[in-house]
Amino acid sequence: MNWPGGSWENAAALAATIGVAYVLVLWISVVAWTYRDIRDRTRDVAFQIVAILLVLVFNVLGWFIYMILRPSETLAEAYARSLEEEALLQELEDQGICPSCKRYVSGDFVICPYCRTQLKEPCANCGRPLNFNWVACPYCTTKKTGVAASTAKEGGRVSQGKEAVESAERQRAASSRTSLES
Ligand SMILES: [Zn+2]
Ligand SMILES: [Zn+2]
Repeated sequence: MNWPGGSWENAAALAATIGVAYVLVLWISVVAWTYRDIRDRTRDVAFQIVAILLVLVFNVLGWFIYMILRPSETLAEAYARSLEEEALLQELEDQGICPSCKRYVSGDFVICPYCRTQLKEPCANCGRPLNFNWVACPYCTTKKTGVAASTAKEGGRVSQGKEAVESAERQRAASSRTSLES
């Protein structure tokens, strides 16, 4: 381009216009970016409005504040993390945790090797470890006898401490019953 004789004012005005347009575009872009970013991070409408207003009013400065205060992970990330945690929990559950001492035990252990709490019930026929809530052995199809299963559940699953408390309670109940009768 060539400027007609000595009109540097025109050039200055043009530069100013470009400068203002640049700032305006930057301003709007930062607000638009924030709008998209906060929508990915929270469903809280109040939080969204505050974040957008912050950036709308203070722009780059507000954007810095927003970057400090925004939720650290997006909703998609939070969802993926919750799925991951669930999978991990499921894995732990499959692997098993001793209900008494909370240590990791393998799924085929009959008793906890750390505290001797009974974890499974060996099949009467093939001896494989069975869950207490199973009614038959999945390996040899032998039916579990209901009474044996329930007593094994009562006696085996609870820890020794609990067992002692329960037997004390039973004794107390029995003694109160006899005192009532007499
Ligand atoms: Zn244990
Ligand atoms: Zn069996």
